[in-house]
Amino acid sequence: MVPSNNAHADIREGVRALCAGFPASYFRELDERRAYPEAFVDALTKAGWLAALIPQEYGGSGLGLTEASVIMEEINRSGGNAGACHGQMYNMGTLLRHGSAEQKERYLPAIARGELRLQSMGVTEPDAGTDTTSLKTFAERRGDRYVVNGQKVWISRVQHSDLMILLARTTPQAEVKKRSEGLSIFLVDLRDAIGHGMTVQPIRNMVNHETNELFFDNLEIPAESLIGEEGRGFRYILDGLNAERALIAAECIGDGYWFIDKVTKYARERIVFGRPIGQNQGVQFPIAKAYVDVEAASLMRYKACALYDAHRPCGAEANMAKLLAADASWAAANACLQFHGGYGFATEYDVERKFRETRLYQVAPISTNLILSYVAEHMLGMPRSF
Ligand SMILES: Cc1cc2nc3c(=O)[nH]c(=O)nc-3n(C[C@H](O)[C@H](O)[C@H](O)COP(=O)(O)OP(=O)(O)OC[C@H]3O[C@@H](n4cnc5c(N)ncnc54)[C@H](O)[C@@H]3O)c2cc1C
Repeated sequence: MVPSNNAHADIREGVRALCAGFPASYFRELDERRAYPEAFVDALTKAGWLAALIPQEYGGSGLGLTEASVIMEEINRSGGNAGACHGQMYNMGTLLRHGSAEQKERYLPAIARGELRLQSMGVTEPDAGTDTTSLKTFAERRGDRYVVNGQKVWISRVQHSDLMILLARTTPQAEVKKRSEGLSIFLVDLRDAIGHGMTVQPIRNMVNHETNELFFDNLEIPAESLIGEEGRGFRYILDGLNAERALIAAECIGDGYWFIDKVTKYARERIVFGRPIGQNQGVQFPIAKAYVDVEAASLMRYKACALYDAHRPCGAEANMAKLLAADASWAAANACLQFHGGYGFATEYDVERKFRETRLYQVAPISTNLILSYVAEHMLGMPRSF
């Protein structure tokens, strides 16, 4: 294994031991069938790793985002893919920070026991895309209920979750001063919603990732599903989005190490022209550069997580960590595929699967362009371009 920052060695060892029971061949076989890693997620849940962020008083381990990021990193570094279960980590912050005492009491112990899953977050809409505040899904208050109408797209793990955090408009855009006002978040019980006003349409895609279109047709949810104050949901969801970016950065870092481990081993062993291909500097340099970039991205990830855990603003760092890590893992993926030659394309080497998986993070959960425009505007003071 290539050297890396071994902070949180106890967590890494525990997750690695669990992942050893789910080798790359397990994920390869599921990829072929586009099937959900039920046994893996079940084992992670039983071992308590998916309750890492739940405070001890509710039955979790009370760890921070830093430790959660290490768990996600190790899953991807093992050859697996944390995309099947990372929702529980980033959604947890939203519930913990903005949920009422009653909501926490009702859901957190059951999530910690593995009886409930909080794996989904419904933000993206077909007509709004990255322009989140233009979303149209509307939740109208009627007595003790909200009635939801609208549509979402690319909403992941809905078929493997019991709860979903939903972002919807509660005041029409024309009636608010700022576009980010008048949005609210709800904790939707999917077991009650699906088939009773909410329809799920799976989207088959490039990777083995369960994601869906959602349609809301007069879906009724209890008023107590509202998280925090009505109209302030955009501010609340930003916490979840920042946590998501830091965790995805960690997953890219795990991918980066996996690619570098895989390709350095191969480059040492593969003999062409009478010598290992790894003896050529043309082969060494792209791999070494990707390694340098992964290490640097890892530091920015730790910075973002430390700020988040200290309840300090971390938007810039979470975005930068995500961009650096996604670029580093993509560079590592390209080097790994390239230096495996034809074998990189063979399914049994797992390189092409991981290559597809890490490519996603140039686009989701936020694209590289949008991160750069955030940095240009919010950190460098340049005029907003859109
Ligand atoms: C597999 C998968 C899983 C997902 N899971 C979830 C989920 O669980 N929940 C959820 O809410 N969403 C989810 N998403 C949605 C994801 O967050 C969005 O796809 C992503 O934010 C990009 O939005 P879009 O697809 O609408 O692209 P668009 O907003 O249409 O953008 C398309 C392209 O145009 C570029 N672009 C747009 N505007 C600008 C600009 N002003 N300047 C420069 N470039 C620009 C972008 O960089 C992007 O590459 C998922 C997506 C995928 C593919």
